[in-house]
Amino acid sequence: MPHDSTLSIAVLLPDLLGTYGDIGNARVLAQRARWRGIPATVVQVTSDQPIPSGCDIYLLGGAEDTAQERATRLLDTNAFGAVIDAAAPVLAVCAGMQILGNSTTDARGTVHPGLGVLDLVTVPGRRRAIGHITTRADPAWRLADTKLLGFENHRGRTHRAPSLPPLGTVATGTGNGDGTDGAAAGNVIGTYLHGPVLALNPALADHILEQAVGQPLAPLAEPIEELARLRSSVRSRRRPRR
Ligand code: GLN
Repeated sequence: MPHDSTLSIAVLLPDLLGTYGDIGNARVLAQRARWRGIPATVVQVTSDQPIPSGCDIYLLGGAEDTAQERATRLLDTNAFGAVIDAAAPVLAVCAGMQILGNSTTDARGTVHPGLGVLDLVTVPGRRRAIGHITTRADPAWRLADTKLLGFENHRGRTHRAPSLPPLGTVATGTGNGDGTDGAAAGNVIGTYLHGPVLALNPALADHILEQAVGQPLAPLAEPIEELARLRSSVRSRRRPRR
């Protein structure tokens, strides 16, 4: 992204993939960019609009199954896979991550092809995973704080190809269902953490911003006083569940 231009953050299909307040991720990214003097704009791309190429960051949120299937078809028709190849960072939460995989099997056993951007498949678990989730990001992602927190609400269990690393290891909660959460490949990050996840995890937000601007960013003196309190409130006594 050129230095003097405005950072454009695309929220894809918020009318379909917006059940869990994931639009907050765009607001967090925009505000953290502005606090560093980088102008930023949030572009909401609803299902009646074409998907723009050339944005600096793309965000996909969570959804119920029917909306997820519709979103998958729209993203496929709009060749979103090719947009992703252009290397802008992508954050895909829950249904968003499942859509980027090879396929999602619904509760009736119907297999819905995904975009094939991430080498993973999702199948239904025995029960829904609902509640707080805490994970440790893989040190390879070099996040300033590796402890990631969020909320999860999904039935899907996600199986990554052995060559596809997860975003992190589950401490409490379910995530992918195998003790890991999410997936990370190149410019694409997937996770089961809602929250919105970037509001609770500024280190992950800054990681995505740095990918977008192509250089390290100065740390912020965290201006949100409640953040520590909020993060400490996200606790679960549950052990990781499969
Ligand atoms: N429909 C998916 C599932 O239940 C995604 C749910 C979500 O995005 N929260 O696995």
